[in-house]
Amino acid sequence: SRPLSASSDSRRLAGKVAVITGAASGIGKVTAAEFVRNGAKVVLADVQDSLGRAVAAELGDPDTACYTRCDVTDEAQVAAAVDLAVARHGRLDVMFNNAGITGGNYAGSAIESLDMADFDRVMAVNLRGVAAGIKHAARAMAPRGAGCILCTSSTAGALGGSGPHAYSVSKTAVVGMVRSAAAELAARGVRVNAISPYAIATPMGARSGREMLGLPPGGAVDEELIRRLFDEDINEMGGGVVLRAEDVARAAVFLASDDARYITGHNLMVDGGFSVV
Ligand code: NAD
Repeated sequence: SRPLSASSDSRRLAGKVAVITGAASGIGKVTAAEFVRNGAKVVLADVQDSLGRAVAAELGDPDTACYTRCDVTDEAQVAAAVDLAVARHGRLDVMFNNAGITGGNYAGSAIESLDMADFDRVMAVNLRGVAAGIKHAARAMAPRGAGCILCTSSTAGALGGSGPHAYSVSKTAVVGMVRSAAAELAARGVRVNAISPYAIATPMGARSGREMLGLPPGGAVDEELIRRLFDEDINEMGGGVVLRAEDVARAAVFLASDDARYITGHNLMVDGGFSVV
């Protein structure tokens, strides 16, 4: 295999082609920017079309960053996002299965009132969407004997009581899916890893924060609310940990880079110690 020092381009993802789901907002959006900064070409996939297009346009020309609509609950749309990357750039190096929803409600998710339709919806996005992403990325990567698949889990997947039930179990299952796929794909040169963030200052984090703090739902999830929730309230709840989407994005850059070439089947906690304290 190639020595680690072979590239003269110091950008960690120079020349790599990536698809990122949930790229119109939050962690996906910031990771797309961090990937581009590190030399990757990125296909941003989401269901928020105008936001997604705007994010892609900010990142560079259409060859560097483009947007495609991709509802991860629809396998055909996941397959199409992978095919788009391969058609435009000749191959797929990195698939970041990051789209997710919380469903439920942090403040009122008693097991006795578990909403089974909500449960199905959360599993369809957070688990089935990830499974489809792994499946179609593997289809593009395994024949070339190379590739990296990343999937966003959560500390809520590792710890009970950290989220609505459907959300927690979907995130636990993501780690199971990652291990299962990694075991099969290791021999074919494809790495599969999970990243598990604790509360991150994103629109999702702010919505969840409102619920945890007992604030009424709804209202604009703007930068001011995110700053207030994370800098003042969640910060104290989390024992002084303030995590930003950039912290997750940089972990994703490392795992996607050749520096992580022997790291697979791993669940990288990005939580400031929340899960071990
Ligand atoms: P976010 O709401 O800011 O962004 C999520 C994106 O996913 C949105 O743009 C949304 O449109 C997209 N999305 C939702 N359903 C989709 C679907 N069916 N198909 C395609 N895209 C879809 O949230 P975020 O905080 O950036 O979350 C990203 C990931 O990180 C999620 O998997 C989430 O569970 C996980 N996570 C977030 C936190 C946190 O505190 N924010 C903590 C741990 C894990």
